[in-house]
Amino acid sequence: MNKKTLEELNEKRKKKGEPLLQNCRNAAAGSIRQLDSKIAAERKLDNFIYHLPDPEDYNLNTHSEALDFMKKLGFKMNPNNRLVKSIKEVIEFINEKGKIRKDLPYDIDGVVIKVNNIKEQQKLGYTAKYPKWATAYKFPAEEVLTKLKDIIFTVGRTGQITPNAVLDPVIVAGSTISRATLHNEDYVKEKDLKIGDIVSIRKAGDVIPEVVEVKKERRTGSEKDFVMIENCPMCDTRLVKKEGQVDYFCPNKNCPARHMEGLIHFVSRNAMNIDGLGDRIIEDFYNFHFIESIVDIYSLKEHKKDLTRLEGFGEKSITNLLDAIENSKNNSLERLLFGLGIPHVGSKTAKLLSMHYETLDNLMNAEMEELTNIRDVGEIIAKSLKEYFEDERNKEIINKLKEIGLNTNYLGEKIEVKEEFLGKTFVLTGSLEIFTREEAQEKIEQFGGKTSSSVSKKTSAVIVGKNPGSKYTKAQELGIPIWTEEEFEKRIS
Ligand SMILES: [Zn+2]
Repeated sequence: MNKKTLEELNEKRKKKGEPLLQNCRNAAAGSIRQLDSKIAAERKLDNFIYHLPDPEDYNLNTHSEALDFMKKLGFKMNPNNRLVKSIKEVIEFINEKGKIRKDLPYDIDGVVIKVNNIKEQQKLGYTAKYPKWATAYKFPAEEVLTKLKDIIFTVGRTGQITPNAVLDPVIVAGSTISRATLHNEDYVKEKDLKIGDIVSIRKAGDVIPEVVEVKKERRTGSEKDFVMIENCPMCDTRLVKKEGQVDYFCPNKNCPARHMEGLIHFVSRNAMNIDGLGDRIIEDFYNFHFIESIVDIYSLKEHKKDLTRLEGFGEKSITNLLDAIENSKNNSLERLLFGLGIPHVGSKTAKLLSMHYETLDNLMNAEMEELTNIRDVGEIIAKSLKEYFEDERNKEIINKLKEIGLNTNYLGEKIEVKEEFLGKTFVLTGSLEIFTREEAQEKIEQFGGKTSSSVSKKTSAVIVGKNPGSKYTKAQELGIPIWTEEEFEKRIS
């Protein structure tokens, strides 16, 4: 459908009070779907011919000859084609057409590059779906017109309020778009958007759709002004705006939106590492009530149908996401432990605890004193763990995760007890050369021992590197066994 045809059609529709057609592509597709062929005929659909089957039957040896041949026969051919001899010329052609694209009487989304020689085409052949002798180049960031049906508000994980455009679904760069972020109140006012406006949208960076501008000449007078909300759409608390900032926030520390922070942490790289569940997607899923707690992540598969309706979610990305979620059930304990977001339990502490206790149940049953005996686990961490595991709500979450089938065992390198190290305390001093200090500490722990920073009567042995200091002297005074680094290496091997 020509751009001009669309304009004429819309003028007629406007007079009749019918809804306007948004763009040529949708209008053409809609025309073809008309059950009444008379209506389809009125739509003045047009075409170009691009392909002649079996050109050799007409003694034609190249694609360009075939195009000339069809033109002579009277078919409507696209004059914007060119026989080129190098990739450089292909690129020049693309750049040239990219510039005149807006002036063409019809919409294009790219250029097709074909091998000219028919024999070479035959040699190259086809995949199951496409010829290997032709390829499409798509122009970036196509702008498409659509209707702004509504503006809805979502709450981010920090309480930030974002207005979102609800659009009449439209295809942009190959995918259906029905929502776009409007960032904040100022953005909406600057663009002077009204509900019911025709707007041009594009996909920035091919991912996030954005509203480019409003077509004011298309206004009918029935558009509604944008009104910024005053209360949080989740908890109804009055919104605040910090001085000099553009965004409104929900100040309620207990606003359900804040739960998102925990969800984002749970799926993050060092925690459950669920690929495909980015911050924005969590925010979307939260606002659509697909995910409200970490337990819900594992029942996302029940929403498969709804997911396909969301932006940026094709069949394939949904399958990948659901697979990633399923796979995360097999993660080693330390990932789950870190993911729970227990205060003061970082990923290193989670690893240390998992290594020592091997199962979540063991850890949950551990006594305060036992916990504080582990290196780097002080009273603060031990107390935090006890408090977390004693909370009924947390117990319920853990039970549900177990029911779902999440692994709660440690699957990493095991503590391999050696008599010489089990339950004993070691002190490292001087500069080590074979191991880093960290490695030496890990080895000692791996065999059931622990390290201390000061020498006392309770010290089992002091491991001495180059240039040892006062700890070495004290060990000698107390008659504590002294190991060189080489000796330590022999004992752990
Ligand atoms: Zn709120």
